[in-house]
Amino acid sequence: MNTIEHYIDGAFVASTSGNTSPVFNPATGDVIAEVGLANIDEVDAAIAAAKAALPGWRATSLARRSEILFAFRNLVIEHKDEIAAALTAEHGKVLSDSAGEIQRGIENIEFACGIPELLKGSFSEQVSTGIDVFEIRQPVGVVAGITPFNFPAMVPMWMYPNAIACGNTFVLKPSEKDPSVNNIVARLWTEAGLPAGVFNVVQGDRVAVERILDHPDVAAVSFVGSTPIAKSIYATAAANGKRVQALGGAKNHMIVLPDAEMEGAADAAISAAYGSAGERCMAISVAVAVGSAGDALVKAIEERIPGVTVGDGTNPASEMGPLITGEHRDKVAGYLTSGAEQGATVVVDGRNMEFDLNGFFLGPSLLDNVTTDMDAYKDEIFGPVLSIIRVDTYEEAVQLINDNPYGNGTAIFTRDGGAARRFQFEVEAGMVGINVPVPVPVAAYSFGGWNSSAFGDTHIYGKEGVHFYTRTKVVTSRWPDPGTSNIDLGFPTNT
Ligand code: NAD
Repeated sequence: MNTIEHYIDGAFVASTSGNTSPVFNPATGDVIAEVGLANIDEVDAAIAAAKAALPGWRATSLARRSEILFAFRNLVIEHKDEIAAALTAEHGKVLSDSAGEIQRGIENIEFACGIPELLKGSFSEQVSTGIDVFEIRQPVGVVAGITPFNFPAMVPMWMYPNAIACGNTFVLKPSEKDPSVNNIVARLWTEAGLPAGVFNVVQGDRVAVERILDHPDVAAVSFVGSTPIAKSIYATAAANGKRVQALGGAKNHMIVLPDAEMEGAADAAISAAYGSAGERCMAISVAVAVGSAGDALVKAIEERIPGVTVGDGTNPASEMGPLITGEHRDKVAGYLTSGAEQGATVVVDGRNMEFDLNGFFLGPSLLDNVTTDMDAYKDEIFGPVLSIIRVDTYEEAVQLINDNPYGNGTAIFTRDGGAARRFQFEVEAGMVGINVPVPVPVAAYSFGGWNSSAFGDTHIYGKEGVHFYTRTKVVTSRWPDPGTSNIDLGFPTNT
């Protein structure tokens, strides 16, 4: 059985910890590899490599950094199929979703290629007589990324292109559930000309994360994952004096007003709720139907569900794959049981769908008449279960969203520009869609939620990413008038 290694200081390194974790093919349920889990010494080795590479990389010109980023971007495009295949094999999502996530990641590499422009500082001439002030942005040092299973290629790309472009060195601790993708990425970085030690991958679990948080040589931590872990990473990293941004879980609502184009809203709900089997932090998990929208919306979604082809992600006909593990599939299915017990209507029960393979499948499921006291509403389900909540007014719909502890993404479907504008003004969430169900910002903006969906004051990627991975230095300089020098520079003297 293949054992997945670390990538430290420009080379693959086998773990010697003796601890491994199984990696499944979620479509078949088979264990396809083991991943070696780092012990403290292995994490220390990765951080030491990043620390040693820092002075050289920091001193590398912006032009050269940009050149390496362009080369890396081209290699990722060239190897997209290889990365997508590894991603689908370990995560289960359909190949087109894997390719889509890599493409959204590439946007961030392209953004970072513009680092000479992004790092431009500011300059104030003659703030006082003969005195100028300017601000420069310098790297923070060795930075770490800790990432979730659901976007194993894209979420790390939210972090390392900007971090590396800014002159930092990077240690990535990917999810142990689908670890292979980032070893391909590491190989491509080296092929692109990145010096050894600038990008390192340390495979591991909680042990590795705790060491990263404790290590005095790690200056900053970017985390993306579930809310309880995000909260604890934020607290520990901050207590240890590190810069930290920690993005957490979500419960994303989509309001459908009675004037919405209902067929389009139903199509949007299907792709946003069931795409990637609902394992997206921007998945729509609750559709809030206002007034007469309720019956029409439920009918239109119910009619579309049998058209969603669920199967092995490697089959081009599949539109939705399995969930990440059997345990997670059973947990998600449990919300159909608890939903029914607590008074919801099970309109479509994905447990009734039959599959040829023994993987961790659950069909798209629809719960109607959900209320805010039900477990299916209170918890982040992170699977293909869409809840419908019916309310009478727009105000009730917005209040419901604003009362929810999360605040990642949200959307409104309406033909009324005034209603949409009011929604963008008053809804409490970090990313808002207007007739767009999954409003993931393009790389020129930044990604992040509010409330329990993000801890720390900086969102991820885009300009906020550059801000997070740099610290400013303000220089106040005074140069005497050249004529006052004792050495004759050829200027007329002032006297
Ligand atoms: P997770 O929180 O279980 O794991 C995330 C990372 O933390 C992994 O690398 C994991 O190894 C590590 N980890 C897990 N338990 C830990 C512990 N006790 N101590 C230290 N480290 C630990 O998340 P997941 O199940 O991999 O991913 C799904 C979650 O991520 C969902 O909640 C989803 O909403 C969230 N997510 C959020 C965003 C966002 O941008 N806000 C994006 C993607 C995923």
